[in-house]
Amino acid sequence: MDLFEHQAKELFAEYGVPVPTGKVAHTPEEARAIAAELFAAGSSKVVVKAQVKTGGRGKAGGVKLADSADEAQALAGQILGMDIKGHTVHKVLVEEGSAIAQEYYFSFLLDRANRTFLSICSVEGGVEIEEVPHDRLAMVQLSPLDGVDRVRAREIAEQGRLPEEALDGAAEIIERLWAVFTDEDASLVEVNPMILTAGGEVKALDGKVTLDDNAAFRQEHDKYEDKSAADPLEAAAKAKDLNYVKLDGSVGIIGNGAGLVMSTLDVVAYAGEEFGGQKPANFLDIGGGASAEVMANGLEIVLSDGDVKSVFVNVFGGITACDAVANGIVSAYKLLAERGEAVNRPLVVRLDGNNADLGRKILSDAALDGVQQVDTMDDAAKRAAELAAGA
Ligand code: GDP
Ligand code: MN
Repeated sequence: MDLFEHQAKELFAEYGVPVPTGKVAHTPEEARAIAAELFAAGSSKVVVKAQVKTGGRGKAGGVKLADSADEAQALAGQILGMDIKGHTVHKVLVEEGSAIAQEYYFSFLLDRANRTFLSICSVEGGVEIEEVPHDRLAMVQLSPLDGVDRVRAREIAEQGRLPEEALDGAAEIIERLWAVFTDEDASLVEVNPMILTAGGEVKALDGKVTLDDNAAFRQEHDKYEDKSAADPLEAAAKAKDLNYVKLDGSVGIIGNGAGLVMSTLDVVAYAGEEFGGQKPANFLDIGGGASAEVMANGLEIVLSDGDVKSVFVNVFGGITACDAVANGIVSAYKLLAERGEAVNRPLVVRLDGNNADLGRKILSDAALDGVQQVDTMDDAAKRAAELAAGA
């Protein structure tokens, strides 16, 4: 999960990294009130910054300086609603303006190729790091066992060729950012620019943080989730612990095992070409042990997608044998009927693998409305695409 700049800065502040004082506004009037407070507290300028999860906001006109609360309000009016690289601006950060003497670049990230952590530091910041010539930036590999203490942090800043007057401040920030990076299970912490102010202070003027979702269980990162951007179906699936991704086609897909579901997407997309370009409507992996409840939850999510015209249930029985899955489907139908969400679109089921014969028999004996069994994956995909096209 990527954080907004204001979230990254709130996190930095918790770890003692100096950042400009500021607050988030959702309307020009709110921006005005925050700016007025900042001017009253002694700021000579304020900066209004678009909060979108993409870089290059400055170049796109999403970062502007104001000399008065009126001007901040007017600028917020321009920036709110702006489209920056496909991201609509819904909020702005209003901060005390900084008098910048120099702009540097700093980041911690994963170096996957070398299986280690990496720090990048350069005296040339404020521009995209890709534009900085290689001999002007330091790339320092870091051992997770040794970590980064103040001495190591200073070495990194020196290697990035930061000037003497910025070294102490930068070292302090770098040491604290290492704590952010490791304690928060981040895979990226980037500060571009890290600035030296006219008054000789070093500060984080921008912040980009990517948190590792695989560590969510041991963190309290829910608070950072951008609920306005999440797909409502994906959010509902997540609440039920389902591995669901919404796509834009018409054939609902349910399978067991990520690999099988991915190949099912391919097979359905291919088969769908024959039927006016029908495509998979989603990815849904119900995993190995598909109980009736999991199957019911899966069907419920897939069927709540109005774009779904048919559903393809593709199961290869393994440890959870096909008879258990078939019973799961039968019970799921009952459960959904009880919930008042009876299945109202055709379901194509392909059962293969462990106990396939028994599973198929259970399903045919149950004679569920709208359920058709097809023995092979290719034929089943074709049938599901055909049903979606005919709907
Ligand atoms: P980005 O373009 O999305 O990376 O947004 P940044 O937060 O990095 O801002 C872009 C540029 O705006 C910075 O590199 C600075 O040059 C400038 N900028 C941002 N905040 C201030 C500020 O408080 N004072 C001044 N003078 N310039 C600022
Ligand atoms: Mn930046």
